[in-house]
Order: sequence, then C-alpha cells, then structure tokens
Amino acid sequence: MNYLSENPCPHPGQKVVVGQNIVSAAGLMYRLRWNLTDIDTLAVLAERIPASIWSMGFTGTIFAHPLSDLGGVNGPWEKFLEKIWQEVVDGKRIFAFCEGGHGRTGTFLASLIAMIEKPDDPIAVMRERYCQRAVETIYQAERIFALVGKEVPEYYQKTLLDQTKIAAILEYWKNQALTKK
Ligand SMILES: [Zn+2]
Repeated sequence: MNYLSENPCPHPGQKVVVGQNIVSAAGLMYRLRWNLTDIDTLAVLAERIPASIWSMGFTGTIFAHPLSDLGGVNGPWEKFLEKIWQEVVDGKRIFAFCEGGHGRTGTFLASLIAMIEKPDDPIAVMRERYCQRAVETIYQAERIFALVGKEVPEYYQKTLLDQTKIAAILEYWKNQALTKK
C-alpha cells in the first residue's frame, strides 16, 4: 500500500464480525455517508467527535479512547476494550471510528478479536473480515499481539510502518498542507 496516497478506500461504516457479534467500523472522513440511526454506542478512537452525530439522530452513549494517528496505543486499552465488549454483550450496537478507518479502527477491531477469539494472528483475521489495509504501524501491532501473548510476526515487522517511515509520511503531509495554503 502507498501510505502517501489519499482516500485509499472508503469506510463509511461496515459491519464486522467479532466472536458471535457484530461491530460497525468507519472513518470520520466518510461521515456524510454514516448512518447512526440504529447505533447505541460510539467507540471513538479519533481525537475528535463530529457534532453532526446529533443531526444524524444519534441518541446513544459515547465511549472514547483517543489514539494518535500513525502512532501506537497508550493508556488503559484493555479496560476500554472490556467496557465496549460489555456493551456488545448487553446487546448494544457499536459504531467505532477514527479518521480514515484504517490504523486506529483496525487496531480496535483486531484487539477485540484478539481478546474474544484468541486467534494466532488477530490482524490477519481482522483484515479478512474488514480491510486488507487496516492496522498501519508496528506499534499498533505490538499492542494487538500482546493481547494474545505473542511477539509481532516478522511479516508485520517488515510491512507495517516503523518510526522512520512514519516520520517520512508526516513530513510529506506537512509539505502538502503548506503547498495548499
Ligand atoms: Zn480500507
């Protein structure tokens, strides 16, 4: 995948199987196409929540665990996952989102799958069900594989973004933003 390209694939909210249940996953940049009318709980991975959720008819609960774009996972992540999973078990319909729907949302889905299903490779399982481009950095993968008590496999060490690649992307985005002004 070319991380420098924009809008690689749209994620306006698709249903993803986790265990015996379903969780919806999306990107904020596709929010004009969101449908929150049957959603009970928002799981916010982004650093902002759009006020337009109210005009979309959302009347549910909001749980947030903001993560940095192209970063890792900090804070009490397992606690957040358990809280969300309790909602799922209680029959609530969950809608998770970050900006693009790949890195942080992919990390969330793979983490839930890791916690609930304990597969050998939670990222592979998540990608099969959601998107091949989801989970972006080695640091996200580390937290996911920690949930199944494993090291990040070599394949991901080679293909996911490390600090050097992330720095190059951030620099590219900065220059793009400057030339747009
Ligand atoms: Zn995608």
